[in-house]
Parts: sequence; C-alpha cells; structure tokens
Amino acid sequence: MCAASNKQDGLHFEPSQQVRLFNKQLDEFLRQEVEPLEDEYEQFLGEFGERNRVDDDGRLVDEYLEVRETIQRRSHEAGFYTMYMPEEYGGGGLSNLEFTQVIEHLHNRNPDGFHELILDTLSVRPAVIPMAHDDYQREKYFDPIMAADKHLAFGLTEPDHGSDVTWMDTHAEKDGDEWVIDGAKCFTTNAPYADFITVYARTSGEDGDARGISSFIVDADNPGWEVGKIQPPMGTQVGEQSFNHFTNCRVPDSHVVGEEGEALIDAMSWVNAARIRLPAEAVGRCQWMVEQCIEYAKDRKTFGEPIGERQFVQGHLADMRADIEMVRWLYRYAAWEIDRDNDPRWLLSAAKLRGAELWWDVADRAVQIHGGAGYMRSLPFESELRTARAARIYDGTDEVQRRTIARDLLNL
Ligand SMILES: Cc1cc2nc3c(=O)[nH]c(=O)nc-3n(C[C@H](O)[C@H](O)[C@H](O)COP(=O)(O)OP(=O)(O)OC[C@H]3O[C@@H](n4cnc5c(N)ncnc54)[C@H](O)[C@@H]3O)c2cc1C
Repeated sequence: MCAASNKQDGLHFEPSQQVRLFNKQLDEFLRQEVEPLEDEYEQFLGEFGERNRVDDDGRLVDEYLEVRETIQRRSHEAGFYTMYMPEEYGGGGLSNLEFTQVIEHLHNRNPDGFHELILDTLSVRPAVIPMAHDDYQREKYFDPIMAADKHLAFGLTEPDHGSDVTWMDTHAEKDGDEWVIDGAKCFTTNAPYADFITVYARTSGEDGDARGISSFIVDADNPGWEVGKIQPPMGTQVGEQSFNHFTNCRVPDSHVVGEEGEALIDAMSWVNAARIRLPAEAVGRCQWMVEQCIEYAKDRKTFGEPIGERQFVQGHLADMRADIEMVRWLYRYAAWEIDRDNDPRWLLSAAKLRGAELWWDVADRAVQIHGGAGYMRSLPFESELRTARAARIYDGTDEVQRRTIARDLLNL
C-alpha cells in the first residue's frame, strides 16, 4: 500500500486510511501493553530515570534490559516490530511514506516513556536483508532478529575514522576457511548487550576505496571480540555506546555478510534510505513540544498577562509551527520519492539535515518558553535538547549532508 494519492489536482501526502487505522492500533497497543510497564518501572523514567538505568560502569542494568526485551517481544507479537521490513522477508511491508508517518505518530507524545522501545532501531532495518539470502545466516541470525529473539550491533565507526569510512583501519585477512579480524570500533550502539555484531573491515583495496570493505558476523562469545569501555553520552541514550576491540578475531567464511568487498556499498544504500526516519521522528517530537508550549503560553502569566500575549513568545511559536510544517512535507516528499524507486539522495540529505536542526531548535525554544522550569529535569525539554544534539552527528553529520547536497548541485 502507498499513502500518497496522485489526484488530478496534485499530490497528497496525508496519512491514508490504512495508516490512520495502523496508528490507532499502535495507540491501543501502547495503552494496553506499554503504559502498565511505565507505571511498574517508573524508576527508569522521569528526572532520575537516566541515572537509574545504568550501573556504576555506565552499563544498562538487567532489570531495564528485561523491560526492553518484554516490550520488543510484545511488539513483535502485535506486528509492529518488523513493520518496515518487506513482506517477502516476513515483515509488515509498509512503504517508506507509510512507515515515516507511523514514526511521526509514534513520537508525537511525551518522550518520557517506553514507546520508543517497541522498535529495535538497529536490527530491523534493511541492513540485515543480505543475511536472509544465505540459508545458514537466515536460520541462525536473520530469523531470530525478525522474531526479536536476537539483537545486533553495527561496528562501522572507528576511533580514527568516522565520516571517512573508506579510510577504515580495521582489516581482515583470509586464513584457510577462516577470516582473522583486527581493529577497533567506537560509539557502537547496543554492542554491550548484542548477541552478535556485524563488523566492517577492509579485505582488499586502498584507503579511499569504497569497494574492498567486507562485513562479518562476530558472535558475542567470540574470544577475539572484547567490548571495551561504555561511552556515557550527552543525551538520554545512556549505557548504549561502547568501544570494541578485535584482536586475532577468527570467524568462519560463512560469516561474511553479502558479497565479499561490497559491504560498504551495500551499507550506503540502506544508510541513505534509513536517514528518512530521523526527520519523521523529529517532526513527531517537535509537534508534541510545540503543543506543550502553546498550553504553557496560555497558562503562564507574567506582569498579569499570559506570556502567549507577548510578541517575543508568539515569534517562537510561529517559527516552530512554520519549521515543523516545512520538514513534515520535505520528509514525506523524500519518502515518496524512495517509494517510486528514484534515488533522491540529496533530498534525503536535505530532510535529514533539516529534521535534525528542527529537533534541536524546537527543543531549545521549548526550554526557553518554559523558563527555569524548562531547564529542570522534571520536564522533558532539557533531555530533548541533549538527545537532539546527537541527531546532528549520527547517520551522517550536518556537514556531510550539506556536502552531499552541494556535490549533487555541482555534479561532483
Ligand atoms: C548516539 C550515537 C550513536 C552512534 N551509533 C553508531 C553505531 O551504532 N555504529 C557505528 O558504527 N557508529 C555509530 N555512531 C558514530 C557516528 O556514525 C559517527 O559519530 C559519525 O559518522 C561522525 O563520525 P566522527 O564522530 O568520527 O566524526 P568525524 O568524521 O571525525 O567528523 C568531525 C567533524 O568534522 C566534520 N567533517 C568530517 N568530514 C568532513 C567533510 N568531508 N566535509 C565537511 N566536514 C567534515 C564532521 O561533520 C564533524 O563536524 C554513533 C554516534 C552517535 C553520536
């Protein structure tokens, strides 16, 4: 199904009836299956939630990991967990336009909840599809991922190379029927808890070549993979990222994902498409924040008048509204272009860039409108501001998005 209708008088990107129904089912699922857990485990939410989720080493505590697993299992049973995966692989088959509209809806609520946990943002992405094309990998890794039984991490970024991934230092050499991987990765989301990691390593070619980089499955119990120090973040993703060391790490040939030497080319195709999720999430979050600001502006009085009467405050509200609407239609247009099998790379970059900036800007304005209360952890705006900052870095930094847009303009 595709949510865009091509009427004679133009294109319409409003959510289709099917998406609206899906969103209703999602709300019901959250009400019945997730909200009771929010009440039961309230220590992981609210002003002390980030602190309570981790131990002294910065590692997520077992109780929180169990809550996360329970929610993902329930989400799988209800059909939300793999909604973005193609039907032929056992997924829900939502188009990019539909999926992003669901994502916007999912995030248009108080961020201080467990609703985000219904999706495993790493595993259930097109990135894992190459594993489905190999019988051994399908049975041992892909099917358990789809069933929320196994979870993975993606090891691409290194201490010395991030945006310049083609300059990767991690390398793998063939030794009989095995590969031997040596190198280090950092900022790797979910690595401390993953059942396995797909680690990218150079197997041929030179610095700067996109070809010659391969991806390997490394199981958590492989003695050659050591999860290093947890990297405590600025935002709310506490306990998630870590260093990883690969030393004489041996894996069988059957653990090469996809075609040898083609992994980075493959990864770039899904990273580009996956970028569309961010602006949709940003719009949902910002819509919720602006609604809180409107209520507060009507309610909060200074000098005997609601602050919403003041033109400076109205200016914030007007800018937020205009910018949210701009990014909403930009991401929907980009998603629709992917669904039409076009390669709207610069458009995806534009949507990701503006989505990340929007999230940051609206969170900052929400803190400002709420004054001192906005700065305190009892309201979720300061944590939104901290979390939004990462969105301007992961999935390609602001500068890398601008580079893509400019290079397209200049035909470089
Ligand atoms: C919360 C979070 C989760 C992450 N999860 C993962 C994960 O699961 N797996 C993984 O592999 N990585 C992950 N990352 C890493 C992320 O992908 C990298 O941080 C990102 O690609 C940028 O790389 P870098 O940090 O090395 O910065 P660098 O590439 O060193 O960039 C530093 C600065 O230079 C700028 N710059 C670099 N090159 C250019 C250029 N050519 N033109 C203009 N400006 C340039 C950048 O925009 C940036 O401002 C995560 C990061 C964060 C913050």
